[in-house]
Amino acid sequence: MIKHKESLIAGWGNYPAEVCNVYRPDRVRDITELIASGAQPHYISRGLGRSYGDTALNHGSGVLLHTEFARFVHFDEQTGILECEAGVSFEEIIEHFLPRGWFLPVTPGTKFVTVGGAIANDVHGKNHHVDGTFSQHVLDFKLLLASGEIVHCSREEQSDLFYATIGGVGLTGVILTARFRLIPVESAYLEVDYLKAKNLDHAFELFAQTNEKYQYSVAWIDCLSKGDNLGRSVLMLGNHAPASKVKTGGDPLRIKNKPKFNVPFNFPSFVLNRWSIRAFNFAYYNIHQNEKSKIVDYDSFFYPLDSVHNWNRAYGKKGFVQYQAVFPPETSRQGLTEMLKRLSQSGRSSFLAVLKSSGEQNGGLLSFPFKGYTLALDIPLHDDGLFPFLRELDELVAAHGGRIYLAKDSEASPATFANMYPDLAKFQAVKAAVDPNNVFSSSQARRLGIVEESR
Ligand SMILES: Cc1cc2nc3c(=O)[nH]c(=O)nc-3n(C[C@H](O)[C@H](O)[C@H](O)COP(=O)(O)OP(=O)(O)OC[C@H]3O[C@@H](n4cnc5c(N)ncnc54)[C@H](O)[C@@H]3O)c2cc1C
Repeated sequence: MIKHKESLIAGWGNYPAEVCNVYRPDRVRDITELIASGAQPHYISRGLGRSYGDTALNHGSGVLLHTEFARFVHFDEQTGILECEAGVSFEEIIEHFLPRGWFLPVTPGTKFVTVGGAIANDVHGKNHHVDGTFSQHVLDFKLLLASGEIVHCSREEQSDLFYATIGGVGLTGVILTARFRLIPVESAYLEVDYLKAKNLDHAFELFAQTNEKYQYSVAWIDCLSKGDNLGRSVLMLGNHAPASKVKTGGDPLRIKNKPKFNVPFNFPSFVLNRWSIRAFNFAYYNIHQNEKSKIVDYDSFFYPLDSVHNWNRAYGKKGFVQYQAVFPPETSRQGLTEMLKRLSQSGRSSFLAVLKSSGEQNGGLLSFPFKGYTLALDIPLHDDGLFPFLRELDELVAAHGGRIYLAKDSEASPATFANMYPDLAKFQAVKAAVDPNNVFSSSQARRLGIVEESR
């Protein structure tokens, strides 16, 4: 049987860090034998660990890495349908298929995620208002169940399992392979307009005016602005650029290699403080001007943070928390205003605050986005007072009919979570049918009461 390594691991926020028993299987049989052996009380899959909190952690239990399951299985050049193993990363997909004129249908703000992680968190991108989540482009996948059986899940076949697995944070089983549609593009570039909004109301107005015109939209918010300027922001609105607009002189489907940076060690936690964050926010807002039709390569547009490897170390040893909430349209203005005010009153600040408009909810039982607006904040963890503050934010979000995102969560309570996810009981029923002993469980799932404490 394969061996494990006891390791202290964390999500991208470096909080919490937990000792887990980490396995690196390289055959499906390794996983089935391991589960049958009962060597660990629970198992959870882990992709590239880009979730921020404890979604892919399993304190004192098994964590299954998917690095050895990273092969392309089949690509249909006519339809753009790609079949691959779940450990394939978005970076690898772009490297192989963008030069052939294909791009991801939906991508989060980093390309260092796996296909399995993207399905299990049902990730969204800057185009949720138009194209929905990643899973909406997934045709089907193969899922290894706790029983050792491998089932084929799609909207038609095993549909309950399909909808429990998209956004199901690895709790229904191990996704082995998936088939999804790539989109055709003429270039590796986007044509981007930048618009400055003087406050939150103005940002909402600009989103509403532009949502139909642009496939991708996102606003960076200066979360330290106050009063009439509260929520002042820079909107970045983009569409894939036609090849004719790319004047680089080379192949429009390729971009130039860019220098990569690395944060070699954890910065002291005082580096990112209220004053340095204020200076950054001020500079960022003022550097940007309203600008039209700028041609920007895909890496700079979708993945600005990926050029700095280990940028999470800039938050120091204690780490940071990313907090993301979505509000329905009717309460977005009030909820987000209150959230930004509370952040400012608490003396805390977010280096990056990102506002997006989101489209209709899909059928994923624990899938995060629904129609409205979503705000993500990165808050340094300087003291334990952060957690009571985040609980207050949870209450605020729930009171406005909103919900928080499991990929970012590390602190919510079971009651708040259940309140925010009305399909939790349906999810638990599907899980109980295929995994009555909770073979698949994570630290987060136990903390939130999605699964019971022990089997
Ligand atoms: C800089 C940055 C920007 C981001 N921007 C966005 C964004 O814009 N939108 C967004 O939605 N998210 C965003 N995220 C979050 C990220 O997209 C998700 O957390 C994603 O799921 C991470 O994928 P991963 O492969 O690293 O999975 P992990 O974080 O390792 O795991 C995530 C979940 O997937 C499960 N899982 C992984 N592989 C499998 C498998 N084979 N079978 C079953 N379950 C599996 C794990 O158990 C876990 O529950 C961002 C993260 C970062 C660091």
